[in-house]
Amino acid sequence: MLLQVRDLSKTFGGLDAVKGVDLDVPEGQVTAIIGPNGAGKSTLFNLLAGFYRPTSGTVTFDGADITGQKPHRTVRAGIARTFQTTHLFDGATVLENVLAACVVRGRSNPLDAVLHTPRYRRDEKANHEKSMEELDFVGAAHLRDELASTLPQETQKRISIALALATEPRLLLLDEPAAGTTDEETESFGDLIRQIVARGISVCLVEHKMSMVMNLADQIVVLDHGQRIALGSPEEIKRDPLVIEAYLGV
Ligand code: ADP
Ligand code: MG
Repeated sequence: MLLQVRDLSKTFGGLDAVKGVDLDVPEGQVTAIIGPNGAGKSTLFNLLAGFYRPTSGTVTFDGADITGQKPHRTVRAGIARTFQTTHLFDGATVLENVLAACVVRGRSNPLDAVLHTPRYRRDEKANHEKSMEELDFVGAAHLRDELASTLPQETQKRISIALALATEPRLLLLDEPAAGTTDEETESFGDLIRQIVARGISVCLVEHKMSMVMNLADQIVVLDHGQRIALGSPEEIKRDPLVIEAYLGV
């Protein structure tokens, strides 16, 4: 199992944002996490990627306990994420944004950078190549010199995915990649996710667009009020009465 989450909880004041969640993410699959607004989906991602420290429970990635590790550690371990609302650096170009994400890959240290050592120059060249490769992969290579913040939301979301991929993850956490996009754009995000999985990268997908979830997911986890209320294949989840009540609202 690539990722194992056991009895994971996060409390904010008196609120259980995530409560006793168990989750197994197998390698090479798409695991979708669905649930109503406020169910704890983004909080779960923040716990996995180390943006929040869990109140209790454990996170094991590739056999190593990474519970409570900070983002710079989890990203080196192989977990990358995108955010529900994109946050690219405003004053920077598309390429500069992706280059910044590459920093975690390099072997050179800040002193190498100051002294411009051969090791630093090798890293710089490799990072440039990697950034362009990932921009090309998401279909944004031609936008390399544009200011990231001036581009449409959908394009910024693609660039955020390039940023995450540039860190060479084994697990990619996508928080509502298709939110606010047209049906056509949603289709193309679906294709992009399939191509990511074909590269051998496992995906956890938080998404409200049910057509996308049903088409892509190998397994679906349903959260409600911080708790896992269902787990199963798309077919099983569609029929689950608890899910229909909590999520589909019928
Ligand atoms: P979802 O992504 O499923 O919509 P969230 O994980 O964003 O849900 O939020 C789950 C609950 O935790 C919500 O009630 C939200 O208000 C609360 N919450 C999330 N982040 C924080 C925070 N940093 N401080 C306090 N409460 C938070
Ligand atoms: Mg959310």
